[in-house]
Amino acid sequence: MIVTKFGGSSLASATQLQKVKNIITANPERQVVVVSAPGKRDSSDYKITDLLYTLRSQFKYGIPDDGIREMIIKRYVTIKEELNLDIDIEKEINEFFASCSKKTNTATVVSRGEYFSARLVAKFLGFAFVDAADILTFNFDGKIDYEKSKQAVIEAVDKYGNIVVPGFYGAYPDGDIHLLSRGGSDVTGAWLAAFLDADVYENWTDVSGTYTCDPRITKNARPIPDITYKEMREMAYLGAGVFHEEAIAPARQAGITINIKNTKAPSDRGTFINSVRD
Ligand code: ADP
Ligand code: ASP
Ligand code: MG
Repeated sequence: MIVTKFGGSSLASATQLQKVKNIITANPERQVVVVSAPGKRDSSDYKITDLLYTLRSQFKYGIPDDGIREMIIKRYVTIKEELNLDIDIEKEINEFFASCSKKTNTATVVSRGEYFSARLVAKFLGFAFVDAADILTFNFDGKIDYEKSKQAVIEAVDKYGNIVVPGFYGAYPDGDIHLLSRGGSDVTGAWLAAFLDADVYENWTDVSGTYTCDPRITKNARPIPDITYKEMREMAYLGAGVFHEEAIAPARQAGITINIKNTKAPSDRGTFINSVRD
């Protein structure tokens, strides 16, 4: 089995979602799909997560809505319409906004970016939607309850076969949402891969692997074909934002190979991360 995680740019538009579907249907081993919230479609665009952080401040401080809700709704509705999906996402989002008050916490609001993204992706792929709040449990100190979460994830896959799970959050034992740090969907994917003893954890992003340095900044950056967990952790620590530093330990401890791959160039090999380099 393969656990896949798709980042924000891979889910930013209907065109991108079609690429995701092509990747998933190309290999039936790709049974588990973890998704981020829609990211930027181009450099002038906004990440849904950033809009939700702003919206939460507006709720909290009573600042008048300056069109942010509309921007969020429009993004999901545009994807839904372009893909002709039979789901009333507009109603779901409006109901959520109507339930918010100045007391609604950041985690509850911001996690909806991934939640609504997963609702659409599950519909589009024909996979079961499984809410991360129902399978990933965190202790009140913020640490994952490994055994309880592992059991719930295994049960979800046993029950549904193919699932889509929103990244970036889970729930405390009382049901309140626990949000991970920015870029945390990588960590969600790593936990799921570890719990399910996946053959590989594929992390699909907008570049063909880990490069010698950020390819957005340096033109002659080159993809690294193979790297160890330790080397990747050092690179992540030093700022290689392609993969979340905290996503390495769960995969390393369970001995899961990580493969960083490019949604826009799926046949590129990408980077393989293992305990030793061949
Ligand atoms: P996603 O939304 O898929 O999680 P991110 O934006 O978090 O994607 O990570 C991918 C980005 O990481 C790339 O577009 C690239 O600009 C940046 N990046 C920074 N350092 C590196 C590196 N060493 N190798 C590859 N990408 C890097
Ligand atoms: N959407 C969240 C963020 O932008 C989490 C993620 O993409 O992994 O940080
Ligand atoms: Mg990321």
